[in-house]
Amino acid sequence: MTLEELKRQAELSLSDLGVHDEAGVTAKFAEARETMGRERTSLVSRSTDLHFPRRVREFRNLILARGHGLVARIKENWLDATPKHLKPAAGRAFNSLRIIAEELLEEESILNIAKLGKTLELEERLDLTLPGNRRPLGSLHPVTQMQREIEEIFLNLGFRIESGPEIESVYYNFDALNIPESHPSRDDWDTLYIDSRTVLRTHTSPVQIRAMEKYGAPLYIIIPGKCYRHDNPDASHSPMFHQIEGLAIDCDITFADLKGTLDFFAKKLFGEKVRTRFQPSFFPFTEPSGEVAISCIFCGGEGCRVCKESGWIEVMGCGMVHPQVLRNGGIDPEKYTGWAFGLGIDRFAMMKYDINDIQLFFQSDVRFLQQF
Ligand SMILES: [Zn+2]
Repeated sequence: MTLEELKRQAELSLSDLGVHDEAGVTAKFAEARETMGRERTSLVSRSTDLHFPRRVREFRNLILARGHGLVARIKENWLDATPKHLKPAAGRAFNSLRIIAEELLEEESILNIAKLGKTLELEERLDLTLPGNRRPLGSLHPVTQMQREIEEIFLNLGFRIESGPEIESVYYNFDALNIPESHPSRDDWDTLYIDSRTVLRTHTSPVQIRAMEKYGAPLYIIIPGKCYRHDNPDASHSPMFHQIEGLAIDCDITFADLKGTLDFFAKKLFGEKVRTRFQPSFFPFTEPSGEVAISCIFCGGEGCRVCKESGWIEVMGCGMVHPQVLRNGGIDPEKYTGWAFGLGIDRFAMMKYDINDIQLFFQSDVRFLQQF
């Protein structure tokens, strides 16, 4: 009997199938067992087939499913519907059929492979001849890379990294740094106020005061971190940006130390050929104050689009720490002097990678970030 034949016959009663005695009952059930056994043998012979786990499940359904499985159909039509005088024979034959049917599916070879079914089934949808899926490895954000590079130079000079809160008090952000209330950067347009006494820090400089209070002098630190200003985003402005500043306080620190250190720093970062230029400037927390420019790293000082034909690029502010700032940090300006500088990490990264829009750093566009 073929499987199709068995399926068809399982829907008919034994009398419809012309079975009217015990011998006929035994023979019919034996045929059914044989057909199921053949089906299993053919199934197992294909156990290396990728579709095997699915076929095992189909086979199990075919034989044992409630209601529509072969065993259930045979019970209904060959046992329950059978005339009383054939019931004992049909009952015995059915019990043995059921046990055998279950055994067909309980053999370890089938079960173990069926358990693997879910795993194999995933594989069966894949073309195994294709190269594997490559999980992309992340990398450090270009701004972080730049920050680490700058940090590395100063760590090698004996500075250590210090950090502080991004939500800062007006005292640390302005007052202690000698920025009077009349200073333009206190204007609402530049500073993001949380309340009248709290701001999102507009620079990393508040950490200077915090570190002076915490460690006293001598002090050699760099302070990297996020800063916030009330700027509309455009190609060169972002309301959130990254600064790093350095602070050196010790006995007999002079402007020459500042110049030497920053010149060394610029050469380490941009190459030995880079020259530095210091021009007078003004910051409330340093006196004297200066702007540092480096010879254009794109044209070597000849003049180009980036340096606006000047041959120089302004890269940071610096100066000798104002005596009042030292005093505010609890350090005696009669005994100690110091210098400080501050620069925008984002701008340095833009310069290094020749990026003309700061917004690209913060848009999380993987196509952009993948290039670093
Ligand atoms: Zn240039």
